[in-house]
Amino acid sequence: MIRAFSAIALPPEIRARLAEVQAGLPEIRPVPTENLHLTLVFLGSLPEPQLDDLDMEFAGIRAPELELTLSGLGLFGSDRPHNLHATLAESAALRHLQARLETAARRIGVAPERRRFTPHVTLARLGHDRRAWKCAELAVAQSADFRAGPFKVGFFGLYRSETGRNAAHYTEMSRYTLFSSQGASSGA
Ligand code: ATP
Ligand code: MG
Repeated sequence: MIRAFSAIALPPEIRARLAEVQAGLPEIRPVPTENLHLTLVFLGSLPEPQLDDLDMEFAGIRAPELELTLSGLGLFGSDRPHNLHATLAESAALRHLQARLETAARRIGVAPERRRFTPHVTLARLGHDRRAWKCAELAVAQSADFRAGPFKVGFFGLYRSETGRNAAHYTEMSRYTLFSSQGASSGA
């Protein structure tokens, strides 16, 4: 079984900007810079044949390149925040792509999340440490001016995740190109 998810990788300059944000939060253990990503669909543990089916489905998706912007920080878990993240400026194209991946996952028998898709880039997972909560809440309150991007997204990926006692290790298994609108016929 392979624990898998589909995601958008972030360009190095965007990861560097997020690393700066993380560096300003001394009470918080950050997600390693190389692990920063935007999850589209979490797939859970799948047997390899099912992953092959999914790969076929994803490879058949024809969708345009995206232009995304990170804007502000947010928390999941209001009373006991457990996740500090950068939020994304609204993108209909991103929602559209995500919905297509979710449909593809359903088609091969994976039931994804019931919760509505909330695009985010996790910066830190917060334990039960109140100092970390305070630090994160302050960061969110002061984050109105934080923006990174816009940046172009030319592909999405299928990742294997190995979790353990330390930071998770992700490996890109496949990548799926999004088409460039430049030079595309305007009537399409
Ligand atoms: P760890 O679980 O060790 O803290 P991780 O969360 O980064 O590490 P995974 O649990 O394999 O690693 O998750 C991979 C990606 O999928 C992450 O972006 C994570 O937020 C997301 N994810 C994990 N579980 C779910 C879930 N039940 N619903 C939605 N997204 C999930
Ligand atoms: Mg996890």
